Amino acid sequence: MKSPRDIQQFSRATQALWAGEDAYLVEGATQVPIVQSVAFGYDGLDEWLDVALGHKPGHIYSRNTNPTLHAFEEKVRILERGEAATSFASGMAAVSNTLFAFLKPGDRVVSVKDTYGGTNKIFTEFLPKMGVEVALLDTTDFAAIELEIQKGCNILYLETPTNPTLKVIDIERLARAGHAVGAIVVTDNTFATPINQNPLGLGSDIVLHSASKFLGGHADALGGIICGSQELVQQVYHYREITGAALDPFAAYLLLRGMKTLDLRIERQNASALKIAHWLEAHPAIERVYYPGLESHPQHEVARRQMRGFGGMMSFVMKGDYETVKTVLPRLKLAHRAANLGSVETIVGPPATTSHVECTLEERAAMGIPEALVRYSTGIENVNDLIGDLEQALAGV
Ligand SMILES: *Cc1c(COP(=O)(O)O)cnc(C)c1O
Repeated sequence: MKSPRDIQQFSRATQALWAGEDAYLVEGATQVPIVQSVAFGYDGLDEWLDVALGHKPGHIYSRNTNPTLHAFEEKVRILERGEAATSFASGMAAVSNTLFAFLKPGDRVVSVKDTYGGTNKIFTEFLPKMGVEVALLDTTDFAAIELEIQKGCNILYLETPTNPTLKVIDIERLARAGHAVGAIVVTDNTFATPINQNPLGLGSDIVLHSASKFLGGHADALGGIICGSQELVQQVYHYREITGAALDPFAAYLLLRGMKTLDLRIERQNASALKIAHWLEAHPAIERVYYPGLESHPQHEVARRQMRGFGGMMSFVMKGDYETVKTVLPRLKLAHRAANLGSVETIVGPPATTSHVECTLEERAAMGIPEALVRYSTGIENVNDLIGDLEQALAGV
C-alpha cells in the first residue's frame, strides 16, 4: 500500500507516520528500505546524464542524494511546512554548512549568547577567522537585538527555546527586523520540534534541527536537517554535497523509524515536563526552575503565542553548588547521566559536561549559566515514577 498522496490534509501526528515514504516503498514493502549503496547505476548513458543534470529524478551518488535520506528529508519538510529540505551527518554539520554556505568575508552575523555550545564556538572561533563579524546579544533583550540588526546583518541566527536555560525568543518580531535589512533568518528548532513550533510560519527563512535529539528520539543515530525555500536550501545542499557531511543511510533509517512516534512522544513529554516543572518549583531544595510552560517563566507569553506545547526540556538550579549536583545526580535511578537530550529515556546532566563542555567556567558564568544548574530531558517514562525518583534523590539535600 502506498501512503496517502494528499498528505498535506492530515494532522502532524499522521504525517509523522506517513509523510515522505510513498515513493520508496518497493515491492509492497511497508517500510522504507536502507539503501546502503554509494552509487546508482544506469545502463543507458543518456538517462544517466539526464539524472546527473537534474533533468530527470533519480540518484547518482550518496554524498549528493540517496532514497533513504530523501524519505527522511521529505518527512521533516512536510512537518515543518517547508518548500525543500536537506540532511546532514549531524546537527552541527547542519549549523556549520548553513553558515558557511551563505557567509563571506566582511559579512555580519547577529545572534544571541545562549546558542548551543558548538554553535557558539563557530561564532567565536571559526567565523572571525573567516573575516565574518559576529555580534552576540543578550538572548531576551529583543530591542537591543533589533538595534544591532539595523547596523547591518547578513544572517540573523536564532535558537528557541535555548540550551540550557530555556529562554524563549520572539521569532516573529526579530524575523521582521532581520528582513527589513535583507538578512537570512535561521532558527534552530531542536528543542521545540516541529510538533510544538514551526519557525517558517513565524517568518524564519530556514529552520534547522539536530535530528540526533527529539526527531530520532532514541539516542541511537546522529543527524541534522534544514528546511526552507527551494532557493536557500539548494545553496546549502550544494555546499554540503561538495564538502561532504552527508547523512548515512542507516542513520536515516533509524531517524525515520524514530519519527513514526514523534507526535506520541512529544505529547507525553510536553505533559510530563509541565507536571515535573511545577513539582520542582515547589520543592525546598530547588532554587529556580526554567521551563517555558511555567507562568513564572519571563517569556511565558511569547512561548504561549508561538508554541503549541512547551517541550520536554527544562533545567533547574539547586540550592547549593556543583558539589550538590554531584551528590544528587548519581542518586537518580531513572535518568541517564549523559551529554544528550530528547530521547525516550530521561537524561540529566550539568552544562559543564553537556551543552557547554567546550566553555570554561568563566565563559559559562558570563553566559549566565550557574554551576548548580541541572539540565533535565524528560523521557516517556510514567511521570509519577519520574517525580518519585526526583523525590528520593532530593531527599535530605
Ligand atoms: C545537539 C544540538 C545541536 C548539535 O547537534 P549534533 O547532532 O549533536 O551535532 C545543535 N543545536 C541544538 C539546540 C542541540 O541541542
